[in-house]
Amino acid sequence: ASAWSQIPQGPPDAILGITEAFKKDKHPQKINLGVGAYRDDKGKPYVLPSVYQAEQQVIHQNLDKEYAGITGVPEFTKAAALLAYGPDSTPLKEGSIAITQSISGTGALRIGGAFLQRFYPGAKTIYIPTPSWANHKAVFSDSLLEVKQYRYYNKDTIGLDFDGMVADIKNMPKGSIILLHACAHNPTGVDPTEDQWRAISDAVKEGDHFPFFDMAYQGFASGDTDKDAFALRHFVKEGHFPCLAQSFAKNMGLYGERVGAFSIVTASPEEKARVDSQIKIIVRPLYSNPPVHGARVASTILNDPALNKQWLGEVEGMATRIIKMRALLKENLEKLGSKQKWNHITDQIGMFAYTGLTAEQMSKLAEEHSVYATKDGRISVAGITSDNVGRLAESIYKITG
Ligand code: PLP
Repeated sequence: ASAWSQIPQGPPDAILGITEAFKKDKHPQKINLGVGAYRDDKGKPYVLPSVYQAEQQVIHQNLDKEYAGITGVPEFTKAAALLAYGPDSTPLKEGSIAITQSISGTGALRIGGAFLQRFYPGAKTIYIPTPSWANHKAVFSDSLLEVKQYRYYNKDTIGLDFDGMVADIKNMPKGSIILLHACAHNPTGVDPTEDQWRAISDAVKEGDHFPFFDMAYQGFASGDTDKDAFALRHFVKEGHFPCLAQSFAKNMGLYGERVGAFSIVTASPEEKARVDSQIKIIVRPLYSNPPVHGARVASTILNDPALNKQWLGEVEGMATRIIKMRALLKENLEKLGSKQKWNHITDQIGMFAYTGLTAEQMSKLAEEHSVYATKDGRISVAGITSDNVGRLAESIYKITG
């Protein structure tokens, strides 16, 4: 017998299960709203033209395939920090932000988890919103942090439980670690307003808490990379020293290339150098150094003014299509005479809409209408097209009345 004869069967990944069921369905107009990846208005994966052009440039440079340093491609990380923190950022100008390339956003969160577990001087507990991206709990528990939750979503208003959130922040033990979705909260699509972010920043400061930003959708939410970075930049301006996980999966459509960055705002260039040295010590035994191709592509886009401008237009294009599909879905539901309110569909932002549909209704949607999405009622708006939005609205109408 092998060493694994007693190994227990693990449960399948929730999203992959949906894809399986979708594939088996023979309905000619079946709809998959499970996956968190952008689709164009024909329902097809989208390679951004700026990415294609940058890739051609990279190929024509005939670069070698030598290893990058432990922290990756320096032109990439420098530009990634600028994109996130902005040109007016004091710590960026002072050279006190430590940054490393990462295996996309997930890898950035994992490095952050490892760093906090090893060096955070306070309690090694991280508070994540209820609900949060399903992988947050797993990433941070695997980093040996204790994971607790704070109130975030109010199911009665299908919006933000702002009072609950602030009350929970105020009740956390002093110096707690708090994970914040910088924009386009996944899975709810519910974001605080700028005024609410100001109040959240004050509450975090009052508690002397440590903010960990997860920014997987910069530009993808509003179509404007500066606007979507508001929360992070406000916290930095207010004197917080946050850390940040960045992903270029969605905003550059580089999903499988695994391009991301993890950074920490420190108090001085000297402190940054020490933090940087420890990040390297964490990364080296994990995977030695990150892959170069995707980072070269992202770096080309970020550093070439013409390509950068083109890319910003393409990000805006994706965000705008999603915003339009939200409006169309709501409009179609209203036209059908739905008695329910669907304002939340257009109030929410980013890739996902939290419909407020129950697990039972979601099962019905799949079984009776061949519309597939997660049981929590989350639908990927990126999977909605001009062609399927009508049938989608009818299906939702039929199960909700
Ligand atoms: N964080 C959030 C909130 C996400 O929604 C995602 C992707 O869905 C990620 C992080 C990380 O994704 P990736 O590892 O593909 O960059």
